[in-house]
Amino acid sequence: MTTIPFNRPHLTGREFMYISEAVAGGQLAGNGQFTQRCYAWLERELACPRALLTHSCTAALEMAALLLDLQPGDEIIMPSFTFVSTANAFVLRGARPVFVDIHPDTLNIDESLIEAAITDRTRAIVPVHYGGVACDMDAIMDIARRHNLFVVEDAAQGFLARYRDRPLGSIGHMAALSFHETKNVISGEGGALLINDDRFRARAEIMWEKGTNRSQFLRGEVNKYTWVDIGSSFLPGELIAAFLWAQLESAHEMTSERLRLWQRYADECAALPPLGVRCPVVPDYAAHNAHLFYLLLPDGVSRPAVLTDLNNRGVNAIFHYVPLHDSPGGRRYGRTGSRMDVTTDLSGRLIRLPIWVGLQPADVDRVVGSVTESLMQYV
Ligand SMILES: *Cc1c(COP(=O)(O)O)cnc(C)c1O
Repeated sequence: MTTIPFNRPHLTGREFMYISEAVAGGQLAGNGQFTQRCYAWLERELACPRALLTHSCTAALEMAALLLDLQPGDEIIMPSFTFVSTANAFVLRGARPVFVDIHPDTLNIDESLIEAAITDRTRAIVPVHYGGVACDMDAIMDIARRHNLFVVEDAAQGFLARYRDRPLGSIGHMAALSFHETKNVISGEGGALLINDDRFRARAEIMWEKGTNRSQFLRGEVNKYTWVDIGSSFLPGELIAAFLWAQLESAHEMTSERLRLWQRYADECAALPPLGVRCPVVPDYAAHNAHLFYLLLPDGVSRPAVLTDLNNRGVNAIFHYVPLHDSPGGRRYGRTGSRMDVTTDLSGRLIRLPIWVGLQPADVDRVVGSVTESLMQYV
């Protein structure tokens, strides 16, 4: 019996053609033709005034932290149930992550706990759209407005998903996307910073180009380029942008394909015998992108035992985040800003099932069959 892998990167078939085109064109450094094509696409499809490609979502979050001009001791409110980069990007600037609990339904930051975590050092809120299901952005933007805070969306998993009629990444002052090979649309490693607030735009271009005004120079706005601010090398080369362009051209089809598989999982899991498992919840305001399909195991069922059993049955199911507040780094650099019961409880019960473009409906059936058989032994 062949094993169904958790993830398999999908190629559209045009990646190598565009990479060859980039090579033939003679510009291999960043900010060339393919980079520009990616921008035009992202700015149009995500209703975002300015996009900048980066090496990763991590790098985009680091740029956001630089642009916020964070000072040591400043605080950032974020969920603990997220990837380390959501916190690390701000810790690198000396800021302190303040972790807030999540909703039991979406596993996104619980906006009703944010205000109690705000202090006079709080500078920003960093919501994470878990599994591409939107956070309650109206509530979060309202809190930010009333307390004069910035919002940086960690939209690493939220590509082409929506909150009401707005694309994720277009709502906060800034947002970070990921094109890591485990995400919906990929370039191996890769990401983008979306700048929705014009106040950050000019400085973002400078920081991205190593602290120089080269972008202005290329647009003919200045007649030489020079060192004007702090910055680093955040831009990927053209080979990465060429690969990404091939993916963006098929991004909507790839999302639709994932959504079909996700719906099949959801339908089959809803029909499971009453084993006590819980499926993902998508609120009315969210149009998700099928980034992942997870199950919450019933109380008292050993997750390691279920995962081992599923893997023995040829289903590569895996767990997800170890909560940051409970990790050595989180204890050293952050603090909790609320109770953490939901995070602690749900993170220990969550398993993720294989979902990728190319997975067959019959594979979904086999995965759900294996989950059912496996759970029957434990409940
Ligand atoms: C994947 C991911 C990141 C990091 O993305 P990279 O592109 O690998 O740097 C950050 N935050 C979340 C929520 C993610 O899922």
